[in-house]
Amino acid sequence: MKKNIAIIGSGFSSLSAACYLAKNGHKVTVFEKNGELGGRARQFKAKGFTFDMGPSWYWMPDVFEKFFNDFNKSTKDFYEIEKLNPAYRVYFGLDDYIDIEDSIEKISKKFEKIETGSGKKLKKFLERAKENYGIGVTDMLYKMPGLSPLELVSIKTLKKIRYFLSTIRKDVHRDFKNPKLRSVLEFPVLFLGAKASNTPAFYNFMNYADFGLGTFQPKNGFYDLVNAMVLLGKSLGVNYQINHCLEKIEMNGNKANKLIFNNKEYDCDIVVSGADYHHTETLLPNKFRQYSEKYWAKRVFAPSSLLFYVGFNKKIKNVNHHNLFFDTDFDQHAAEIYDNPNWPSDPLFYANFTSKTNPETAPLNCENGFFLIPIATNLKDTKEIRDKYFNMIIEKIEGFTKQDLKDSIIYKRSFCVSDFKNEYNSYGGNAYGLANTLFQTAFLRPNIKSKLVQNLYFCGQLTVPGPGVPPAIVSGELVANLINK
Ligand SMILES: Cc1cc2nc3c(=O)[nH]c(=O)nc-3n(C[C@H](O)[C@H](O)[C@H](O)COP(=O)(O)OP(=O)(O)OC[C@H]3O[C@@H](n4cnc5c(N)ncnc54)[C@H](O)[C@@H]3O)c2cc1C
Repeated sequence: MKKNIAIIGSGFSSLSAACYLAKNGHKVTVFEKNGELGGRARQFKAKGFTFDMGPSWYWMPDVFEKFFNDFNKSTKDFYEIEKLNPAYRVYFGLDDYIDIEDSIEKISKKFEKIETGSGKKLKKFLERAKENYGIGVTDMLYKMPGLSPLELVSIKTLKKIRYFLSTIRKDVHRDFKNPKLRSVLEFPVLFLGAKASNTPAFYNFMNYADFGLGTFQPKNGFYDLVNAMVLLGKSLGVNYQINHCLEKIEMNGNKANKLIFNNKEYDCDIVVSGADYHHTETLLPNKFRQYSEKYWAKRVFAPSSLLFYVGFNKKIKNVNHHNLFFDTDFDQHAAEIYDNPNWPSDPLFYANFTSKTNPETAPLNCENGFFLIPIATNLKDTKEIRDKYFNMIIEKIEGFTKQDLKDSIIYKRSFCVSDFKNEYNSYGGNAYGLANTLFQTAFLRPNIKSKLVQNLYFCGQLTVPGPGVPPAIVSGELVANLINK
């Protein structure tokens, strides 16, 4: 029977769930608290610059293509993507960087120049990673709503058991000795929100996503994807409501039957929340919350971030579209995120200049900069601290890229822990959800369906499969499949 379904939040998981549910004939309304759709992937414009606020790495293009194919469409019907070459640059110091190019062959040659024998080892490493991609992403991801441990068991996964018992760190360190190569290979783990030493080696499929599939860029930025999914949703009849903050879920027996937004009531048959899982449960009466505060406090959360959106009045030299500044001690920074949460003493960071590939994101002869420092959740967040870190990273970029930048800044906005909390109701101000550690994988993640509220479902980066845009899209499909069943 067709249902009246309310979807909370408009991140990628919600946008995806909305399309699948509407395709099945349900009446679907998406309610977003902010003034724009897209969740953490919102966009804003200021002084002639256009900034994507969150994701910028378009990895795993097959997942995006599959999503649109499910509606007899292709990404090409909505936006153009380009494979970047180089995909990204990693700075290790002054005159010391590696450009990661767009094929395994080229990257292996670069590895070989840095460490004898590592080119061949990389190819072998990536063959194994590709196999895991086939099992993890192509075969399993879409079939794992996380309802039972048995979802993980198949002949293929049993053969791969060693990858669940080992870690990315162990496997990378076994094959590669050079610290720069090691950090390049451990970098994709950042997307999973955990330390390489705490992430099952099976997730090396992210290395295949990185080197094997490559880094793509939607022509007008990541927001192309939000626009495409909303356009598709509208064509299927989805109704989108912005500036609608869910304040309370009212119950009738063990069913959620009324949603309260800005003192207005909305009746529905089914609720799907793509908003932060912990926050959603706080909107329920106490006895209907499945997970206690103690439970959440014990989870390993992906980092928060200190972000800067910066407009420069000149073109910037010696940088690519994506740039990583890895001249610091990876382990020290990771310990300051996960083990002894504190502001990093010497942070690694990421800098993105979208106007390098899409000049329209900045006025003529200007550059659009986005800077991200991963940090622990729940840190004290003040203007002074933000300014201190901005100066630290901008001076480092000036030094490594040999140019003055500070005097060329004509726009600057920062975003940090308190903004993640205020703008997204994010637990601890996390930027990308719950980490994918061994004990927070599949059925060990917060449940996609409430065990206490009969008609309440969850999607997004705190449930299955995990953090990142491709998993968010899959999460929307998983929850829709469960409801459609
Ligand atoms: C800075 C940053 C960089 C990132 N970079 C990448 C990247 O390069 N590549 C990649 O793949 N992933 C990246 N990610 C991760 C990726 O963006 C997220 O994992 C994904 O977008 C999360 O989607 P979601 O559907 O889970 O939720 P969200 O995008 O968090 O959406 C949840 C929505 O719920 C809304 N909401 C909350 N409370 C309420 C309420 N009470 N009522 C109504 N609405 C509510 C929020 O406003 C929000 O819009 C990045 C994330 C960040 C923050």
